[in-house]
Amino acid sequence: MSQQQRKVPLLFKEKPEKVAIATGNNAAWLCHCGRALPLLGKAGQLKGPSENTKVTCEECSASYFVEPDGGDYKRTLVVRKL
Ligand SMILES: [Zn+2]
Repeated sequence: MSQQQRKVPLLFKEKPEKVAIATGNNAAWLCHCGRALPLLGKAGQLKGPSENTKVTCEECSASYFVEPDGGDYKRTLVVRKL
């Protein structure tokens, strides 16, 4: 079976949510700054982001965190802008 492509929420603090795409514990999404290439990350820990698990856009320095579903490093639940 091919790798399932799941749509998951891309959450912002003060803007309407968008959609990220996930497969397993990986996720890809477009930064709000308009960077042409997607950002790509994998799910971190339940306790939240750390320096090692957050994803930072090279263009605008915005940081994001891929939240795991029910356990550390589990499959992607949502992507959240920090
Ligand atoms: Zn950006």
